[in-house]
Amino acid sequence: MSRRPGYPTYGKRFVGNTEKKEVHDLDNEKTGTYQCQIDEIIKAGHAKTFNPDTLAQAHSEGYDNCAYCIGGSSR
Ligand SMILES: [Zn+2]
Repeated sequence: MSRRPGYPTYGKRFVGNTEKKEVHDLDNEKTGTYQCQIDEIIKAGHAKTFNPDTLAQAHSEGYDNCAYCIGGSSR
């Protein structure tokens, strides 16, 4: 899997899970059970993108790294 065109992520690289406050890198998405679960996040209405589309922006909004696609989670 990879970036998704259209609503709600519009081909952006970094996608946040507003429920867990975690950010995912879709260019390195891990699709195993209990890994990124991007489609589940989108289905649940918990996906958000960042402007600009950078990891630094996600961090500045209080998002923590996904342990699977980014690593270095602080939780
Ligand atoms: Zn992830």
